[in-house]
Amino acid sequence: MRILVLGGTTEARQLAGLLAGDGRFQATLSLAGRTRDPAPQPLPTRIGGFGGVAGLADYLRAEGVRAVIDATHPFADQISANAEAACAAAGVPLAVLSRRPWTAGAGDDWRRVPTMAAAARLLAGLPDTVFLTVGRQELEPFLAMDRRFLVRAVDPPDVLPAGATLVLDRGPYTVAGEMVLMRAHAVGTLVTKNSGGDATAAKLQAARSLGLPVVMVDRPPAGTAPRFYTASDAVDWLAAHGTSAV
Ligand code: NAP
Repeated sequence: MRILVLGGTTEARQLAGLLAGDGRFQATLSLAGRTRDPAPQPLPTRIGGFGGVAGLADYLRAEGVRAVIDATHPFADQISANAEAACAAAGVPLAVLSRRPWTAGAGDDWRRVPTMAAAARLLAGLPDTVFLTVGRQELEPFLAMDRRFLVRAVDPPDVLPAGATLVLDRGPYTVAGEMVLMRAHAVGTLVTKNSGGDATAAKLQAARSLGLPVVMVDRPPAGTAPRFYTASDAVDWLAAHGTSAV
């Protein structure tokens, strides 16, 4: 059964590992090509955009894809919307594999906002240094701000707020390590997207321990496709919902 996995995440890599060892499926992993040094993948991989909804629908038909798993990042809303529309157009079942969002607990001081622009506006009442862990493509709302910023990203951003300190790292992170970093840069406020997952959650615990406010950007609205939080649940869905016709 031909399967397409839209990836670029740890969850997609986990699913790829399961599909690679499962004789029922012939799966291809698709990456956008954003990361300069992508991790090795256990499946045949194609890299680059499809050319919008029409291009993705054409790909699904041409390759005889029988089911699609959208395992992209929760904030990659364009490709997720494209997948919904293209799968509907091509008559291919679609499911989403995601990571659970983080939730605030006792001792957390979260300020939830719907967008990155709203996060930037909220900073007016919050202390420096502002630690931006939002991804290198999300810095635009902060560029013109006269604040002290610490920016952490996997790859170097094309543009940075003036005078910002840049740290390149990809995690996973520890609470102790995050506290050392935050103290060293006198961090007063943490800004993050609600990406969820374990690999980058230590910053939230560190912020709680240090009594820092966290500006939390909520996820964009989810689509209507069924959603799973483990790779094995996604495999079960594939076995039940993909069609074996070629
Ligand atoms: P996006 O805004 O949702 O997508 C922009 C365009 O990039 C899409 O229209 C599509 O181009 C192409 N694209 C995205 N993901 C693709 C994939 N897996 N395979 C082929 N083409 C893809 O995406 P983004 O937020 O820039 O994220 C890009 C990639 O990085 C995603 O795969 C995502 O999983 C990963 N990622 C994103 C974030 C984040 O915070 N946004 C964080 C970590 C990893 P066409 O229209 O030409 O098909």
